[in-house]
Amino acid sequence: MAVEMAVQTFKNLINGEWVESVSNETFDSRNPALSTEVVARFQASIEEDVLQAIEAAQQAFLSWRAVPPSKRAAILYKAADLLEAGVEQYAAELTSEEGKTLASSRMEVKRSVQTLRYYASEGLNVSGVTLPSDDPTVFVYTKKEPLGVVAVITPWNFPISIPVRKIAPALVTGNTVVFKPALDTPLIAYRLVEALHNGGLPAGVINFVTGSASKIGKPLITHPAVKAVTFTGSTAAGEQISQSVRLSTRVQLELGGKNPLIVLEDADLEQAAELAIKGGFELTGQACTGTSRVIVMDEVHDRFVDALIEKTKALKVGSGLSEGVEIGPLANESQLTNVLSYIKLGIAEGAKLVFGGERLLEGDYANGYYVSPAIFTEVRPGMRIAREEIFGPVISVIRAGGCQEAVEIANDVDFGLSAAICTADANRVQYFIDHIQSGVVKVNRPTTGNALNAPFGGVKMSSTATYRESGRAALDFYLQEKTVYYGTQKINA
Ligand code: NAP
Repeated sequence: MAVEMAVQTFKNLINGEWVESVSNETFDSRNPALSTEVVARFQASIEEDVLQAIEAAQQAFLSWRAVPPSKRAAILYKAADLLEAGVEQYAAELTSEEGKTLASSRMEVKRSVQTLRYYASEGLNVSGVTLPSDDPTVFVYTKKEPLGVVAVITPWNFPISIPVRKIAPALVTGNTVVFKPALDTPLIAYRLVEALHNGGLPAGVINFVTGSASKIGKPLITHPAVKAVTFTGSTAAGEQISQSVRLSTRVQLELGGKNPLIVLEDADLEQAAELAIKGGFELTGQACTGTSRVIVMDEVHDRFVDALIEKTKALKVGSGLSEGVEIGPLANESQLTNVLSYIKLGIAEGAKLVFGGERLLEGDYANGYYVSPAIFTEVRPGMRIAREEIFGPVISVIRAGGCQEAVEIANDVDFGLSAAICTADANRVQYFIDHIQSGVVKVNRPTTGNALNAPFGGVKMSSTATYRESGRAALDFYLQEKTVYYGTQKINA
């Protein structure tokens, strides 16, 4: 039975007003560490709510695009201050909804504050170019303009840092936004919108509509007034979206990964095991850049696996709100089912489960979506556990005979988001950098983590081959270029 203590109901934000859905229905956001606990209640929106939000964003665009960039930036700075003032509360809320540890949630909220400030500043650097003109009476230049209404659709795994890295560059460049967060994590998404609203965004510039993609996804992405869709989520949903959007709608899809960590024979094996754990098990393996495959040279394979198991044994699984916990629950029931089914599949495919991979049900684990971190060895590159995104705390160890073979194995999947290598050999590092098919490349670093001022995105099925997120490059997605030929009239001097 659900725990029903003073559950607060939150509203949508449409045209500057907090409003209920026309459906008159709500849904519950629950705690994955204690699935009987309802964290908060949200509007179960339907198409009509989305249409109102798009209409508001369309109207607001007419004036927002004309607001001076420094004033737009000032609102982002104010929102950053408001968010920063509530870091502890928001981090606890994030953990209650998503399950990650409090330390990870705190880092994520702080990172989101920094992201708002970063784009507030970057917004003042949007520029075009001047071009040499054959005709001295004509001045040729380009200027960048906002697109209009942008639909922002985000996943639950980084429920504030992913929305903010889309919304901040969209707003600072003069676009307006309709934001649909994931069903599992609407509260922390609400906190971001609340900070932007209270920071002074005019009515309609940001609109927040919660609810299921099955009801509001299609009307949002197919509306003719929506000029761009920026989406982060699963490759399957990304494919559906790319098939549904209009030809004239700009689309950015940031999707799944199957990220490899290559361990060469000269690697510091203790460090390599720590990097595998950080990339593979931190965030309960629910990071798009999470380490899913470790490709290890034959001659150090056994020593590496021993170190990996030893360090994994020491990890504490539990509620993200508890002190000392390193691995929280999976974010929802379907994640749990999915991860357990891949563990079963790995065994059926002939891989050897050398550690973990069990549903935890005793004591405090009873009502949460807990799985012990799993290590498979004897994994062959053709197995499904070595090719498909699992999105949970499961590491597949694959043997390789040399660096070239390791890179070939790493590349032999549909994804290409993040890849790392552990070695001190500069020549083979260069070979890896040159040949790996991946948008993010790390040397002696975990596959996870990216700098907010650096571009981020993948290749192959991990991203649309168009625009990058994060850093200055992110602004490009939200801007279109106009080329101006500015001639003088004849002067009768
Ligand atoms: P998801 O099921 O694809 O959902 C992501 C978001 O899209 C949610 O808001 C979801 O709404 C919505 N959605 C789903 N299907 C849709 C459709 N057909 N049309 C419009 N919206 C739709 O993904 P998830 O389970 O939340 O997140 C995990 C996935 O995200 C993993 O595959 C991971 O690799 C990927 N990810 C990628 C990156 C990156 O930068 N490349 C970063 C983080 C995560 P509902 O909640 O209502 O279903």
